[in-house]
Amino acid sequence: MDLVLDAADHYLLTPYVYPASWPEVGALRQVISLLVLTNVGAELLYLGVAAFNFYCVFDHRLMKHPHFIENQLQREIRLGVTSIFWMSFPTVALFFAEIKGYSKLYDNISDSALGWPGVILSVAGFLFFTDMVIYWMHRILHHKSVYKYLHKQHHIFKIPTPFASHAFHPADGFLQSLPYHVYPFLFPLHKVAYLLLFVFVNIWTISIHDGDFRLPWPLVEVVNGAAHHVDHHLYFYYNYGQYFTLWDRLGGSYRHPSVLRGKGPLDHIRKITASGESRR
Ligand SMILES: [Zn+2]
Ligand SMILES: [Zn+2]
Repeated sequence: MDLVLDAADHYLLTPYVYPASWPEVGALRQVISLLVLTNVGAELLYLGVAAFNFYCVFDHRLMKHPHFIENQLQREIRLGVTSIFWMSFPTVALFFAEIKGYSKLYDNISDSALGWPGVILSVAGFLFFTDMVIYWMHRILHHKSVYKYLHKQHHIFKIPTPFASHAFHPADGFLQSLPYHVYPFLFPLHKVAYLLLFVFVNIWTISIHDGDFRLPWPLVEVVNGAAHHVDHHLYFYYNYGQYFTLWDRLGGSYRHPSVLRGKGPLDHIRKITASGESRR
């Protein structure tokens, strides 16, 4: 995050916003800047990508599904925007620790012991680690002793739109994002790779809620896409994963997508429309 903070300081905050008497390295100034940058960045990314997916990718026929609730879009957006705001406080605490040098983030490829292969390995490690921890975290969040307090808010939406992607109780959202933020404190990672991964995970989360159920055949078996995740929203105890089906397969919670078996939400809509017409 220091790359973003340095750029914001250089081009905007130091010349136009803060008084000259307030140094860039002042802790309070850094925390305020990080809060503003994190909120503006995350809200724009969420609303921008989700709106694009909603208008260009999401199949609007899904809104006719009987499980699509009243005012769903407004409820998803309200919860998503509010959650990002409250999540930003603990997230900024981690960004601040990172700026103060407590993480293992590095600036140059030459800082990696293995050079480029090291950077590629660390990205693969990031995806593997976060996929694994989120899977188990997600399963715990479904345990009946905690479910109703936190994760239930996300499952109000049985037929999610891209705006449901960030619609969580803030504590739930933060817990599920924690693996991303903890990784660079445990393992070395290039700073630019970390920023790109931060953008990627947000876009990925939106994409598994966007109702585009297509996945090329070989990937269907390995990648956890929107077809898998809509079954998580509909059937609850399956497909807890984030990017891959690996942990669902190992944990016994894998469900081959209903969409690919002719039993998806659009098939359901078609069936009730046809039976309604035949009754007329
Ligand atoms: Zn869930
Ligand atoms: Zn979801």
